[in-house]
Amino acid sequence: MTSDERKDNCRLLTKQRPEPGESPNWLRRVVQLSFVIFSLFLCLQFRSFVLSLTGPVDAPIKARPPAVEAYLPISSLMSLTYLVKTGVANRVHPAGLVIFTLTLVLALLIRRGFCSWVCPIGTAAEWAHKAGKKLFGRNLSMPRWLDVILRSLRYLLLGFFVFSILLMPIAALRQFIYGPYNRIADVKMYLLFSNITVTALTVILVLGLLSVLFKNFLCRYLCPYGALLGLFSFLSPVAVRRDADKCVECGKCGRACPNQIPVDKKKMVRSVECTACFSCVGACRTPGAIGISLPRGKMRVSVVAYGVIMIAAFFFSAQISRTFNYWRSETPGGMYKALYSRIAEIGHPR
Ligand code: SF4
Ligand code: SF4
Repeated sequence: MTSDERKDNCRLLTKQRPEPGESPNWLRRVVQLSFVIFSLFLCLQFRSFVLSLTGPVDAPIKARPPAVEAYLPISSLMSLTYLVKTGVANRVHPAGLVIFTLTLVLALLIRRGFCSWVCPIGTAAEWAHKAGKKLFGRNLSMPRWLDVILRSLRYLLLGFFVFSILLMPIAALRQFIYGPYNRIADVKMYLLFSNITVTALTVILVLGLLSVLFKNFLCRYLCPYGALLGLFSFLSPVAVRRDADKCVECGKCGRACPNQIPVDKKKMVRSVECTACFSCVGACRTPGAIGISLPRGKMRVSVVAYGVIMIAAFFFSAQISRTFNYWRSETPGGMYKALYSRIAEIGHPR
């Protein structure tokens, strides 16, 4: 196809089809919303568990939802390191370890779709910048030099956590994992939000405002978890691939990418920023020009298949873990109650 023919095709397709971003990636939105609703349900369940800890010593304790441990990625990274070093899978936060390991495996196999399909914080960040675009007509762009500096922040944070944990002696890991701080870390995190201080509220509001103004501010610049998944997904054989023979070079895919990846200039997207959101694929109006697949375009993954894989992976890993009795924490309710009664004294171990 000559360059003129490409331009003609591009003009024709642009006239006939909606603009990028208009094509609804409805399935991803449904999956995101389902995980947000599930997370809110977890929060309510966890709230009633925490409230039941404040009752008299002999009062019954409400069930604690194990999936809240998904919000303890640093504890889970320690558990995984401990498992690799000793062969022991601890039972303090087993669900956290299962979910954390699963997200790493998924990133390695099918890229970091966790960020754009599952993570409720990623969903909130996406909703925030879409609201910003509706309110102000567009999102702001960071100057290139500042974008590079800020993006390196989350790698610095990640490097700090990973190296500190990897270099910890086994005895220190064991002391942390089985210590009082880790056992009650989920309750401490809950109290951080339920008894929020002015400082914490100010930080959240500032981050919220920045997320409204800039696309994916929180995920792009501050989330070390996303950075870790990005590094794993770099090794994945699955990637966005553009077929240069079919592509009419209209640039819609590049403009649709929420992570500012110039998809239309690449044959394959290797970027650690790619979250497998399918926005570029959904924006393309040229059949077969772009897709998420294995090398040489083999086994193209449809958006439906990707969504099903995501839901099934989390659902079945939880079911399998339950079957093998590795889902609920070993920490007894009585110990939770005792730890809760002196929670203010329990600080982070040095
Ligand atoms: S390259 Fe495509 S799949 Fe990857 S983040 Fe950009 S729009 Fe989403
Ligand atoms: S792959 Fe991108 S540039 Fe090529 S036709 Fe599709 S949207 Fe246009």
